[in-house]
Amino acid sequence: MSHIETQCIHEGWKPAQGEPRQLPIYQSTTFKYDTSDAMGKLFDLEAEGYFYTRLQNPTNDAVAAKITAMEGGYAGMLTSSGQAANFYAVFNICECGDSFLASSSIYGGTFNLFGTTMKKMGIECIFYDQSMTDEEIEALMKPNTKCMFGETITNPTVGIFDIERFAKLAHKHGMPLIIDNTFATPINCRPIEWGADIVTHSTTKYMDGHATAVGGAIIDSGNFDWMAYADRFPGLTTPDESYHGITYAAKFGKAAYITKATSQLMRDFGSIPSPQNSFYLNLGLESLHVRMERHCSNALAVAKFLKDNEKVAWVHYADLEGDEYHDLAKKYCPKGTCGVVAFGIKGGRQASIEFMDKLQFASIVTHVADAKTCLLHPASHTHRQMTDEQLIEAGVAPDLIRLSVGIENIDDIINDLKQALGQ
Ligand SMILES: *Cc1c(COP(=O)(O)O)cnc(C)c1O
Repeated sequence: MSHIETQCIHEGWKPAQGEPRQLPIYQSTTFKYDTSDAMGKLFDLEAEGYFYTRLQNPTNDAVAAKITAMEGGYAGMLTSSGQAANFYAVFNICECGDSFLASSSIYGGTFNLFGTTMKKMGIECIFYDQSMTDEEIEALMKPNTKCMFGETITNPTVGIFDIERFAKLAHKHGMPLIIDNTFATPINCRPIEWGADIVTHSTTKYMDGHATAVGGAIIDSGNFDWMAYADRFPGLTTPDESYHGITYAAKFGKAAYITKATSQLMRDFGSIPSPQNSFYLNLGLESLHVRMERHCSNALAVAKFLKDNEKVAWVHYADLEGDEYHDLAKKYCPKGTCGVVAFGIKGGRQASIEFMDKLQFASIVTHVADAKTCLLHPASHTHRQMTDEQLIEAGVAPDLIRLSVGIENIDDIINDLKQALGQ
């Protein structure tokens, strides 16, 4: 199963003779054992088995295994949302008193989580600009800086992250690189192949693909050598008294990071997906490769249409010839980036609002990256409280429209945009 198209369909749930062909929904919080001793062995980690769904569930685990295979990772887990995935991914490494680096162009929800909420937990996020030189970023690093974070394709500005370059920089300073690969999906980019150590997802987007279930995933490559920097990562390299005194990196090797995130963070915070939602996610994954192709070809056609349109002020889409991220897009996403196009209408904020209100089937929603064409105007929605000056400072132009191109017929999509532009 070396091809990702086949992995989308066949990885994860592998039925034995007579078992259901489709992934069963193990909608059960608990699992039964015949003797007290048999269950006791699970708690002593002497035997493997399911006992409580907050820790492990066969439906959730099968879907995690599928995404792990697709990303070329070593171990993975699902979470109840992309927010939970990014929080766990960093909190599994950083403790109170630590700091970490994150690109300033990340998704607004992650920006808030890292910059405001984690600060209250005593973890400092140092934001860097992706256009900074290595030296400028190195100048931001502190002795307590433990990892680096970025998005393959930034939401909503659709820039491309130079994964290979930042992986080298992180490794030079003894820290892992975490990549949020939500927009590209492993169909279009596999960050681990470029040196990323840990990959996260909001599976809510293309992976689910039909706007049915909020979810997240964390995939570890198993490549980062925690023991080589044992003093810097005590959570992984010293005994966990709350978990049988186990030292994760010593006992679990390449599975250390995910084992810790499951048996410590998930045990204590409990942000698991429901097995029912994981079933929906699995259905989405089965057609991900087919949908991504159509999302990309439709988005490229839309970007070209907008680029040539006299009413449009500007367009960002990295697959467009001449886009500032075009070279990076060709390197990291040779099959295409994603279905999201950012653009502005001449006339600014008000003209953008009027354009959006005239659209017919392209709908205004707080969502992105599903089968239906949809759009959002950050200045009037997600970033509503900000003035134009504040928006520009945050890198979000007041006229920016985030258009998520769906998989409908391309002529219908363009016709809808045309009539809304009054053409
Ligand atoms: C949506 C999104 C998230 C947050 O995911 P939820 O599933 O909404 O919690 C994180 N990162 C990116 C890039 C996203 O687009």
